[in-house]
Amino acid sequence: ETEQKALFIIFGGTGDLAKRKLYPSLFQLYKKGILKDNFAVIGTARRPWTDEHLQEVVKDSIINDGAPRDQIDEFAGHFYYQSHNVNDTEHYVTLRKLAEKLDSKYQIKGNRLFYLAMSPRFFGTIAKHLKSQNIVTDEGYNRVIVEKPFGRDFESAKELNDSISKYFPEESFFRIDHYLGKEMIQNIMALRFSNNLFRAVWNNRYIDNIQITLSEALGVEERAGYYETAGALRDMVQNHILQIVSLLTMNMPASYSESDIRREKIYALKSLKKYSPAKVAENFVRAQYIASDGRVGYLQENEIADDSTTETFVAGKLFVNNENFSGVPIYIRTGKRLTRKTTRIDISFKEMETSFFDSKKLGRNILTINVEPEGQVFLQTNIKKIGQGFDLEPSRMNLQLNNEHEVVPEAYEKLLLDALLGDATNFAHWEEVAFAWKFVDSIREAWDAGNGKLSEYECGSMGPKESEVLLEHDGNHWVFTG
Ligand code: NAD
Repeated sequence: ETEQKALFIIFGGTGDLAKRKLYPSLFQLYKKGILKDNFAVIGTARRPWTDEHLQEVVKDSIINDGAPRDQIDEFAGHFYYQSHNVNDTEHYVTLRKLAEKLDSKYQIKGNRLFYLAMSPRFFGTIAKHLKSQNIVTDEGYNRVIVEKPFGRDFESAKELNDSISKYFPEESFFRIDHYLGKEMIQNIMALRFSNNLFRAVWNNRYIDNIQITLSEALGVEERAGYYETAGALRDMVQNHILQIVSLLTMNMPASYSESDIRREKIYALKSLKKYSPAKVAENFVRAQYIASDGRVGYLQENEIADDSTTETFVAGKLFVNNENFSGVPIYIRTGKRLTRKTTRIDISFKEMETSFFDSKKLGRNILTINVEPEGQVFLQTNIKKIGQGFDLEPSRMNLQLNNEHEVVPEAYEKLLLDALLGDATNFAHWEEVAFAWKFVDSIREAWDAGNGKLSEYECGSMGPKESEVLLEHDGNHWVFTG
């Protein structure tokens, strides 16, 4: 890519996300020459930091990179700090002046990226002031990037969306879902639409069921206060899991363009089958981790109410009622304090109907897309055992080229570059967000009305037994057992 000219204004520049993800990702873009001479970053937050202090924080965030000292210093020299209370109009005036100064110093030509790495309750206020205080420019582009959570139900998401889209049109509005920046999630489209082999069987005639697992080993850690108001359904299913569902089940887009891909994803999400409250109880499992394995239970964590009913685990059976996928169960699950951190997709193909071989001895074809911790694709097949006779055995094809010299970029690095290039393909469009919330709301409302009990599971397990039973009812089981 060629060098990009841009001024980043990061709201929440002292925060955890900025330090852990944004600064290191910007540095990767700098090392690649995508950010070079004509860029600057303003970090803003409440604390009274100096430029030097921010620059030290930035250097600390990339200390393990192994890059030459000079390069790190030069990069950090592009960072400026502006103490700022988002509710104080005066502060935006100071911010505008600093932005103008840096724009001319680095010859940025008015390109601005506003990264809102702070609580969504401030998004509307910030967007309004960016406009009213003329921090948006006429010369270049103005793009706003926002973090999750994007609302807590459809209504609040719509309110949040309106409060920003009043000032920033959809094409300049980038809603982060960092799973969409992951290499293997992006590989779903490559696998599906560049291989005739997979394209031919990617439908309800050949696929028996799809399984999506996003497991975490950690508990709620420092984010208990937020988690308590969200739960696994809002925190993981509404965004990451439903995005993955849409990529797996959408029809082939007319072209590889943002608008065509988006259209098909929206259509897939629109086709999610809604359940009656009673059916929610049958098709969804929710649970909390309890004290076990030497660790405290969710209810004993700091900041968590003793009688909290927030779920730390959810499993469910979904259907996308479009032409190719109606009738195919899509089992999903996500939770905290499970065996380990994994993101994976298992696509289980139907058993053969012919009796050429003893079908009981045949393993199913399973395509596994490992997203984390390592990016890999496996295809489970049957082959003949070496030797006399005709015994079969399962074999795993590894479809991923393992190139040890190729460093897989962080999701945030790719997404920041997409935003610089104005490409919103790997961001969540408003209509996707809206349909996903409407689906999730229907589950949440059924739970709130008392449908489906809250189960328990042990730390270090793969969730409650109800999650196993959900699949056993259909004669299936989770391919990934932890
Ligand atoms: P954080 O609490 O570490 O940082 C919040 C930032 O906002 C701080 O810089 C703080 O100074 C600033 N701030 C708060 N009130 C302010 C005010 N009135 N005026 C000006 N600045 C103010 O939070 P974080 O973990 O960096 O998360 C930021 C956002 O990103 C949140 O919306 C969060 O949900 C989201 N997010 C974070 C992560 C993560 O890994 N940390 C992951 C996904 C999404």
